[in-house]
Amino acid sequence: MKDCTEPVIERLAEDGRRAKPHFVVGVGGGRAIDTAKAVAWKLKVPAISVGTQCATNADTSAEVVVHTEDHKYLKTLILPRNPVLVIEDTEVIAKAPAKYMVWGMGDALSTKFEGEAYAKSLAKRKDGQSATFAALALGQACFDSLMAHGAKAVKDVKNGIHSAEVDEIIEAVKLTSGMAFENTGCALAHALHNGLSRTGQITGEHGELVAYSTIVQMVFEKRPREEIRQVVSWCESVGLPTKLKAFGEPSKSALRIAAEYAAEKDMDSRNMPERMRPADVMDAIDQVERGI
Ligand SMILES: [Zn+2]
Repeated sequence: MKDCTEPVIERLAEDGRRAKPHFVVGVGGGRAIDTAKAVAWKLKVPAISVGTQCATNADTSAEVVVHTEDHKYLKTLILPRNPVLVIEDTEVIAKAPAKYMVWGMGDALSTKFEGEAYAKSLAKRKDGQSATFAALALGQACFDSLMAHGAKAVKDVKNGIHSAEVDEIIEAVKLTSGMAFENTGCALAHALHNGLSRTGQITGEHGELVAYSTIVQMVFEKRPREEIRQVVSWCESVGLPTKLKAFGEPSKSALRIAAEYAAEKDMDSRNMPERMRPADVMDAIDQVERGI
């Protein structure tokens, strides 16, 4: 299985219908775990996640990211229930290549910023819903842990050292980020990730593109330059790309299509407090490209 695609989910669900399991266990990274969650949902049985690396916060999540067979983003399924059991053996995860941890941190970087946008967008609605302080506090705790321990954890994994910082980052990616975003929502960072990865002109991993798109979201929100610079230099220190050239330099027209999709069509864009205009997203991308 190369990817979490509709044909793979359907084929495994068909096998499952014959085997009639009591639950489905996903073992591995995000693609394996998302596929297992989707198959469990189709079979109406609980899902169990067993993470073997740290590139994703999919393990705790009720969301499933479905790709096409040529690895373009297709859609996100929102399942009615989260995995009932999540097992993370930090001895195993600490031995996975360091690049997975870098990608997972890139994905987790978005949690605080998207959660805060989500909370603001709820506050503007008149139906009385609000984000919980607990979820926002977890988003902040995830961010603080990444900033404090990320660079050391990556260095330690590269050197085969299972340090306290490695455990801190596994917790930030797998538990803290997962619980924070499941109780808030994604916003521009994931909407732009989805838009960019639909163009077919982008290479790179989910977490790398989400980290880049988080910087774009921060610029779009007109956050203080100091705050944005802190995130950019942290990304550079852990090896996350901060410029589009790392993703294959998509054309201007592909970028416009991605910005349009992110601002107007992607479901995560509804969690931004202001109505987004594609031109403003493009402008934020241009600013990131020029340098913060
Ligand atoms: Zn993500």
